[in-house]
Amino acid sequence: MNSATVPGPSPARADIDLEAPGKRVGHVRLPHSTHESAYGWIPIPIAVIRGGAGPSVLLTAGNHGDEYEGQIALLKLIRELEPDAVRGRVIVLPRLNLPAAAAGRRTSPIDDGNLNRLFPGDPEGTPTAQIAHYVDTVLLAQTEASLDLHSGGSSLEYVPCAFGRVPPDPEIDKRQRAAMIAFGAPLAIRVERPQTNRSLSAAALARGHMHFSTEIGGGGTTRPATQAVADEGVRRFLSHLGMIAEAPSPAAPTRFMRVIGAEHYVYAPVRGLFEPARALGDPVRAGDPAGRIHFPEEPGRAPHELRFAGDGMLVCRRVPSLVAPGDCLAHLAADV
Ligand code: CA
Repeated sequence: MNSATVPGPSPARADIDLEAPGKRVGHVRLPHSTHESAYGWIPIPIAVIRGGAGPSVLLTAGNHGDEYEGQIALLKLIRELEPDAVRGRVIVLPRLNLPAAAAGRRTSPIDDGNLNRLFPGDPEGTPTAQIAHYVDTVLLAQTEASLDLHSGGSSLEYVPCAFGRVPPDPEIDKRQRAAMIAFGAPLAIRVERPQTNRSLSAAALARGHMHFSTEIGGGGTTRPATQAVADEGVRRFLSHLGMIAEAPSPAAPTRFMRVIGAEHYVYAPVRGLFEPARALGDPVRAGDPAGRIHFPEEPGRAPHELRFAGDGMLVCRRVPSLVAPGDCLAHLAADV
């Protein structure tokens, strides 16, 4: 590799000490020079809580800015967790793509960046690519396990679940499976053919982390039941790693499922109004109706009928009724 192609160090710096024992709350300062603020920086919130000897763990939310359970769960954790109750170190970033989170959007309004499609990032790229690079080269590099909290966002809603890509390493695979069950959501879903290899999850597993993500609710909001999954799941994750003494027990055992490939997804082939045939959590069989797309500009025209191509549970649905070709309308997961 030519030295000119080796990425440089991150331009971002945390304004708190991430090493020393104790609890500190501050910002990662990402330089961003704009018309309004020539020497400005983007203040990404970060906290560290370090107690006695133990693992170093990274907890993130707001990777997509319109996913709220994780952001709220981590804000609570920062306030409530004290260093004398922690074995090891927890680094917490509740609004990782801050510009996107501040705007309540999946992507950043300053560069249109989708953080979870830009790993391992670029120190000289767009602000969103620089966040990815900082997470990869600084935060993932100094931790050994991580949890990236997602929900469905503005356009999707999920049955609350731990959500993980299958790790390449069999030992990590075993530890990830156990931790996903310990998280205690109603479902734990593993994805065999992920949508992208440029996610935080892909970067974490490439660094040998014990890692998974979540999909908790969605629709651009939070609810008492989904919020509880996030709040308690974070505690159960830390307790599973031996870092905190106690965590609330899950309401019910976790059902382990998997998403395989195209047969588990339903996409819109035409523009119109989608009327779903099944609700979130329903069991479905291949050939069952998935719904129909109505043509509001042609009231006399019969709707376009859609069917499921595989067996499983409806674990994710599109929220807005207005659909265009290429929109994901639903996806299934199957029992393992
Ligand atoms: Ca997401």
